Amino acid sequence: MEYSGQKFDVIVIGGGVMGSSTAYHVAKRGYTTLLLEQFDFLHHRGSSHGESRTLRATYPENYYFGMVMEAAQLWEQVQSEVGYKVYYKTPQFDMGPSDDKSLRCVIANCESYSMPCRVLDPNQVSEHFSGKMAVPENWTGVLTELGGVIKPTKAVSMFQTLALQNGAVLMDNMEVKDIKKDDGGDIVVHTSNGAKFCGRKCVVTVGAWMKKLVKTVSGLLLPVQPIETTVCYWKIKEGHHGEFTIESGFPTFASYGEPYIYGTPSLEFPGLIKVAVHGGHSCDPDKRTWGPPASLESLKQWIEGRFSGLIECTGPVAIQSCMYSMTPDEDFVIDFLGGELGKDVAVAGGFSGHGFKMAPLVGRTLAEMVLDGEAKGVELKHFRLTRFEGNPKGNVKE
Ligand SMILES: Cc1cc2nc3c(=O)[nH]c(=O)nc-3n(C[C@H](O)[C@H](O)[C@H](O)COP(=O)(O)OP(=O)(O)OC[C@H]3O[C@@H](n4cnc5c(N)ncnc54)[C@H](O)[C@@H]3O)c2cc1C
Repeated sequence: MEYSGQKFDVIVIGGGVMGSSTAYHVAKRGYTTLLLEQFDFLHHRGSSHGESRTLRATYPENYYFGMVMEAAQLWEQVQSEVGYKVYYKTPQFDMGPSDDKSLRCVIANCESYSMPCRVLDPNQVSEHFSGKMAVPENWTGVLTELGGVIKPTKAVSMFQTLALQNGAVLMDNMEVKDIKKDDGGDIVVHTSNGAKFCGRKCVVTVGAWMKKLVKTVSGLLLPVQPIETTVCYWKIKEGHHGEFTIESGFPTFASYGEPYIYGTPSLEFPGLIKVAVHGGHSCDPDKRTWGPPASLESLKQWIEGRFSGLIECTGPVAIQSCMYSMTPDEDFVIDFLGGELGKDVAVAGGFSGHGFKMAPLVGRTLAEMVLDGEAKGVELKHFRLTRFEGNPKGNVKE
């Protein structure tokens, strides 16, 4: 089976948010583009489905700061192109023990990037949230303006719609089995149903399947571990629903220390708020358990302590399963594959549970890499494959 004799400028493999954004950017620049997805488009078996992802600039690593600021502008541009909203702005609230190193780095980064931020003591936290939130005596809160919620499935659909409108060919139920270079130097992509597609360049954005596909294609064993994780929704007590919404100014939030806990305001399901633990258990992306998290005790205690009794903490009322692709340093992988495929194949993955917000920027960067030979606006030195050579832990973190 063969699609056609057409040779594409770029073949993008993987129709999650990164691949869909890349297909959009390549097609928008006027190049012929093919996007291949192994399952149905907008499926729920990867990392980019669901109802909410946080956008925040508050990273302990300074190299993500500028990226988030640019990505936020790109979200606004792209959504205005399609004509509907995927990015809902609200402030970000970070909290944790006052001596937590990551939180201290976040505050220092805000200062060096001149990002307006308010550092609050426990009394000021209570006052700011009119008693809805409370933190322990030895904790600090950090409020930043740049935050918000992105709707993931809607955002993936947006990129695919715009890719189509710009002339891209989109095909689902096409599982890529191998990528090879032919004698003429073209890239040939083979699928499990016997199809073959030819392109000048190729971008691989296969999320939790990255380790498997890259091993097959290049023999390289990447330390990118699929993790099965769970998102939990909790009931807001009667009479208080309106206090936890974006309209009322409620922020996206994160709590530092062990475990790292994050959440978004009530948006997708009226009367419910998302609060979840960043973490999960290692998995094979083709053999998921889909089960509930092993223990919710620390999360229940955290909710009871932080929300002044306004959230039912006996248990979540809805749970969704999802996958992270974790690198040992939790930094992304964005690079050329190298070897025989040289600069003709770029890979991006290992987004480690915090990549969604960057998708418009990552897509633009990957388009630049394969079309122009290099990324123009983004420094990729922390995201290189070579950082793992003889150094399985990757980038050094304090
Ligand atoms: C619960 C949860 C919460 C998160 N919260 C946040 C957040 O608040 N903020 C944030 O910025 N990020 C967050 N993230 C991270 C973010 O969602 C991911 O980084 C992002 O979705 C990764 O997108 P992707 O395109 O790399 O992977 P995916 O969405 O998994 O896409 C990869 C695609 O490739 C396809 N594929 C795989 N193998 C093949 C093959 N051989 N042939 C063809 N297709 C193939 C897959 O089917 C899949 O559709 C969260 C992630 C999870 C799971």
